[in-house]
Amino acid sequence: MTLIADLSTPELAALRSSVQARYDAFRSQGLKLDMTRGKPAPDQLDLANAMLALPGNGDYFSAAGEDGRNYGNLQGLAETRALFSPILGAPADRVVVGDNSSLALMHDCIVYALLKGVPGSARPWSKEGSPAFICPAPGYDRHFAILEEFGIRMLPVAMTGHGPDMDAVEKLAADPSVKGMWCVPKYSNPTGEIYSDETIARLAALRAAAPDFRLFWDNAYCVHHLTERRNEIPNILEECERAGHPDRAFIFASTSKVTLAGAGVAFFASSAANVRWYLSSASKRSIGPDKLNQLRHVRFLRDVAGVERHMDAHRALIAPKFAAVAEALERHLAGTGAARWTAPEGGYFISVEATAGTAKRVVELAKAAGVALTPAGATWPYGKDPHDSNLRLAPTFPTLAEVRAASEGIALCILLAAIEARAV
Ligand code: PLP
Repeated sequence: MTLIADLSTPELAALRSSVQARYDAFRSQGLKLDMTRGKPAPDQLDLANAMLALPGNGDYFSAAGEDGRNYGNLQGLAETRALFSPILGAPADRVVVGDNSSLALMHDCIVYALLKGVPGSARPWSKEGSPAFICPAPGYDRHFAILEEFGIRMLPVAMTGHGPDMDAVEKLAADPSVKGMWCVPKYSNPTGEIYSDETIARLAALRAAAPDFRLFWDNAYCVHHLTERRNEIPNILEECERAGHPDRAFIFASTSKVTLAGAGVAFFASSAANVRWYLSSASKRSIGPDKLNQLRHVRFLRDVAGVERHMDAHRALIAPKFAAVAEALERHLAGTGAARWTAPEGGYFISVEATAGTAKRVVELAKAAGVALTPAGATWPYGKDPHDSNLRLAPTFPTLAEVRAASEGIALCILLAAIEARAV
């Protein structure tokens, strides 16, 4: 394929009519496909069906003899904390097990910080005038939605392929109103990138002007590998401690995409001071978490090897879907210059950088052809992609046949939009 930019006017016209014809043929199939949200497919949820019968009749005591049916133990069962401690990279006594949503824990931490401050705060963040967060972009739309909800200013920073642009992060953090930063350090949503050792060391050592600066370290995809390689990243708590900032990182994760997305367990892990801070506010909110679900997770997953085996089974189901998207994009777009796209080694998304100024048009073309895509701009703070180029593809939920069909259509839409943009 020749670069669209290099085509002569007649060549461009010929390509346009052939791609338009292929797009029209695709549209005439009247398909209805959805590639919008990173949800596990029903066959992935089936992998955890045995949990529905756990912990089982009569099995409700923890190893320490606590009655899982009753109130109490806000921090979570010791065996659940111990199971996930190596995965989170935090000692079990610095892990809190919450209910089913890590996003809810992140939301609560923001609210507590705004209302009360965090360890090291001179005053609540809401009394700081105009608190701000560094937001690597493209990023996770729901992270941005929390900040928008509470009026925290968002400062976008580019992703580089190995984490956020650290020169930009270091400049922004020199402003004392900058209180925190979102980080999805492994298999980022949506770019799939893994923060490099250097990026992580620089984040830990960052000279933040705010003494109560926090990294919201959302390790949502820590065990969600798409290849045989189980990529590891440096331990953020240890790095921060070594750099003299022991309270800097709030770690979040969950089993939403390990066991059951609507019935998993979520985690908060941090320094001892931060865990005390979190539990102190959380104790006003709840008398204790669902400990039967914590027991259920321990009975089902057993140990880290059990988690890894389970994630291998997920990989067998979803890796072919990611391969199908890559194959269609490659076949239609390679060499055209119309787009670049990621080849993630884990996580739930493929991120496409379409021709600048065309992402909205691609979403519109796809919708007209029966393929629902995440709205253009969703991966940027305030929904505003400055280049109108980023598209987030979420291939896990549809069946493989649906992913194949949708990818064909998406690739044609990206190509057609790029040709239209050149023709203008
Ligand atoms: N964090 C990231 C980066 C995500 O992509 C998602 C879901 O897509 C979540 C958190 C949601 O986590 P939970 O289900 O634990 O609330």
